[in-house]
Amino acid sequence: MRNTGIRMKVNEIFYSVQGEGVSAGSPSVFLRLAGCNLHCWWCDTKYTWMFTESIKERIEKHVKKLGETQDDIKVYDMTTESKDLTAAQVLEKLHGFECKRLVLTGGEPTLQHNDRELLALLGILREEGYYTEIETNGTIIPNGKFVSLISQWNVSPKIESSGNEKIIREKPECYEFYKKLDGSWFKFVIVSEADLDEVLQIIKRYGIPSGKVLLMPEARTKEELQEKSKWLVEICKENNFRFSNRLHIELWGASRGK
Ligand code: SF4
Repeated sequence: MRNTGIRMKVNEIFYSVQGEGVSAGSPSVFLRLAGCNLHCWWCDTKYTWMFTESIKERIEKHVKKLGETQDDIKVYDMTTESKDLTAAQVLEKLHGFECKRLVLTGGEPTLQHNDRELLALLGILREEGYYTEIETNGTIIPNGKFVSLISQWNVSPKIESSGNEKIIREKPECYEFYKKLDGSWFKFVIVSEADLDEVLQIIKRYGIPSGKVLLMPEARTKEELQEKSKWLVEICKENNFRFSNRLHIELWGASRGK
């Protein structure tokens, strides 16, 4: 395979089961890319993007204002958490697992949609019969080639409670794009009941079909997950939305790479 010289920014590669969304429970290989264009205070993969003191301080301030606590707010070492890898290097690792279901995640993986190594990798995986799903925050419209190589889009739009400004988290053209895409799902993370109005407004404003919508509780512990799930299931029943569990929180809490 020819090395294009431009490498993917990879955080980690591991084998597990998909913990969220419509494919929950499916054994999958996770390719986690580094970097994110949003900074959600409750993000459980801060190690993929919290690389500077200024970002860390901003999140710290926000969390303090909310009266919350987070034990993962620190500056992570970018050289450890973001490795420049070629398609061949990633492919070798993926071939080490007996599984042809890939979850491309992050961070925000579409930030690298123009990366030639990533496109080359996705092309080979498609030829080898892999099924590739992507976890995205839905703020970037990827190029056509990239789009053609992804089978399933797990779009997780961020709302006000994420702590990101509206101008960077809500891109109307992206909602229009993703809602028309075959294999797209909209998974909203709900921190509290106060989020529901905003989510319902977004769904209405952009005409997102209810059959594509999932609501998932924000939680970092099993107890928190159970508590929030009880009322969120009722909201899903009322609105004909799917409920998404968080299997990995139930099984392993906030541990990474599981
Ligand atoms: S968009 Fe996703 S990866 Fe980025 S900060 Fe938010 S939760 Fe984390």
